[in-house]
Amino acid sequence: MSLIKFFSTNGHFERVDFRQALLMGQAPDKGLFMPEQIPRIPESIIEEFPKMSYPQIAYEVVKPYLGDLITDSALRNMLQDAYNYEVPMERVYDEKYVLRLDQGPTCSFKDFAARLMGRMIQYFLKEDGKSIIILTATSGDTGSAVAHAFFGLDNIKVVVLFPEKEVTVRQRRQMTTLGKNVFPLAINGKFDDCQALVKQAFVDPELRGLNLSSANSINIGRLLPQAVYYFYARSRAALHGEEIVFSVPSGNFGDLMGGLIAMKMGLPVHKFVVATNENDEFPGFMQTGVYEPIRPSKNCISNAMNVGHPSNLARLFCLYGGQMDETGRVSRQPDLIAMHKDLYAVSITDDVTRQTIKEAYSQYGVLLEPHGAVAWAGLVKYLNECGDWSPCISLETADPAKFPEEIVRLTGINPALPQVMARLDELEEHFEKMNGNYASLRNYLGRFLTEV
Ligand SMILES: *Cc1c(COP(=O)(O)O)cnc(C)c1O
Repeated sequence: MSLIKFFSTNGHFERVDFRQALLMGQAPDKGLFMPEQIPRIPESIIEEFPKMSYPQIAYEVVKPYLGDLITDSALRNMLQDAYNYEVPMERVYDEKYVLRLDQGPTCSFKDFAARLMGRMIQYFLKEDGKSIIILTATSGDTGSAVAHAFFGLDNIKVVVLFPEKEVTVRQRRQMTTLGKNVFPLAINGKFDDCQALVKQAFVDPELRGLNLSSANSINIGRLLPQAVYYFYARSRAALHGEEIVFSVPSGNFGDLMGGLIAMKMGLPVHKFVVATNENDEFPGFMQTGVYEPIRPSKNCISNAMNVGHPSNLARLFCLYGGQMDETGRVSRQPDLIAMHKDLYAVSITDDVTRQTIKEAYSQYGVLLEPHGAVAWAGLVKYLNECGDWSPCISLETADPAKFPEEIVRLTGINPALPQVMARLDELEEHFEKMNGNYASLRNYLGRFLTEV
């Protein structure tokens, strides 16, 4: 099979291989990279997955995109090393499960993508003897997952922009207590402002000497690892041939894109429940066919999903034959009928999110945090509206201990701090504050120019 090429969703850039797409992050025409073909995993292999470990399944899912870019033994080592933690499936009732993606070093599902992407980037940089700056915007969890994945490497610096007032203290501390090659910037603005600043830096000719790379969910290296846990989860829940309903708490839609890629690779899925918080631009689009970003985005308690214009919508539209540019302008409408067949989009208010955290605990003894509660509430709504279905898997994307204030208030339980976060509240913080002007960011990044 010839090596899969990646094209830009904006359509004004050459096709590149996985290595180039990974190191570039975003295409120079501001589009996002998409695979030209999505390889199918033979059913006979998928049906072997129940007997395989997480790293073994990951190998089968990721390998078809890589060809010989990474040697087999190096890839297997990377996967073994990246996925050295549990991926528990918790039964809620009958065949309804919560998949806990919160057992990595920063206790959010972002670890799955960041840890493999980090290892792949290191591998390629070593081959080239190069150094880079990872520039990333975070609504709370990406920054820490990426910072931890690259922490302490001498040929990589990580600059993380986060909205000063929109991350929890523990989320901030996970970024600001590392030091060394990790440079956190508290932006006086919203996540969308952080993301806009990052995007501008990428196309700034004055910063070309910096070798900037992104680690946002706009990087294709983030998406492929996020296809893996859908295969893994199904292999632990379903019998031969059974289709699953997944519920995905969605902000920037990277997690959902992973699931859709998995489905196109052959994973039997009945429906994806796309659960957003009150930033309901996508559920609105599914109802009306008209896309309108939410500006400014709304502050909800599921803060990692406070996104008024999800960048991965460009990929989602592309997958369904449409085209959307980076500003959200739709130049070709996607196939809405096909989208409705695969996706059930629903917006969950903060009130319902809180109610869901309470009820999941009192009815089933299951402790959810706000993001996982949005997904569970979305699933409940889907089952009520469209009829019962089994098996169902709802994604829990963070550890409740990252959001202690809400959880204590709603359930009376003070969630135990996971081992990896044990010393977090004591460590010293280092970060700079910055206004939302692009000139300030350029100035800041300029200091690295002399060092490179
Ligand atoms: C980032 C994040 C999400 C949203 O994932 P997207 O890929 O941006 O849709 C949900 N929950 C948590 C805890 C997150 O950190």
